[in-house]
Amino acid sequence: MIPGIRLVLLGKQGAGKGTQCVRLARHYVVSHISTGDMFRAALRTGSDWGRQIRAYLDEGELVPDEITLGMVADRLAHHDTQSRGFILDGFPRTFPQAEGLTKILEPHGLDMAIDLHISTDEALTRLAGRRVCSTCGGIYNVRKPPRYDWTCDNCGGEVVQRDDDTDDAIRRRLSLYESDTAPLLEYYGDLGLLVTVDALGDADAVADRLVEAIDRHREPSTP
Ligand code: AMP
Repeated sequence: MIPGIRLVLLGKQGAGKGTQCVRLARHYVVSHISTGDMFRAALRTGSDWGRQIRAYLDEGELVPDEITLGMVADRLAHHDTQSRGFILDGFPRTFPQAEGLTKILEPHGLDMAIDLHISTDEALTRLAGRRVCSTCGGIYNVRKPPRYDWTCDNCGGEVVQRDDDTDDAIRRRLSLYESDTAPLLEYYGDLGLLVTVDALGDADAVADRLVEAIDRHREPSTP
């Protein structure tokens, strides 16, 4: 039996995956691996690699599967994820990525995949109002801003709108979700790993719902 938890959090952009992954990672003491955060960190280094992927992020396009899978495979080889597990956020987003992940994790596989579910209208509203800390990545919303003048409550960084939270890029990302990522729900459903959790409501209520769903799924079934 592998300790910790090995989890994929699926859901439309704006469902609150980032916010909830931070909470779940603390609750289960596992690493939160966000491919979006990893790509944004690469952009900030100004490396050649960062420059190559900038165009994809700015347009809301998906970074090619080979690049994304290679980056995730490296990260999953680290000691923390090998020993305690992980929560994957924003990955997999395509069928080849899901199959690649299954291969990387052989022979153990995932514990479960969660669909954090919201409607497209709610996702559009949330994304248009989303603001993030440019230093620590903390997530806010115009409806729930930081306490002081767009200064991050956690680290004092500047809270701004993400470069790819423009109207066009948001629509493109949501359309890619429908065409490329939504089919993964069936993939994980067929593997008996999928659990759907309603993403509506405040962050605490959603977090409670997630923990309950995860613990229920992990409980050994009684004979
Ligand atoms: P996110 O923060 O998850 O919304 O991701 C921001 C951007 O990073 C996306 O719009 C893509 O350009 C890129 N990205 C993140 N995760 C992936 C992935 N699994 N596959 C391809 N591109 C990704």
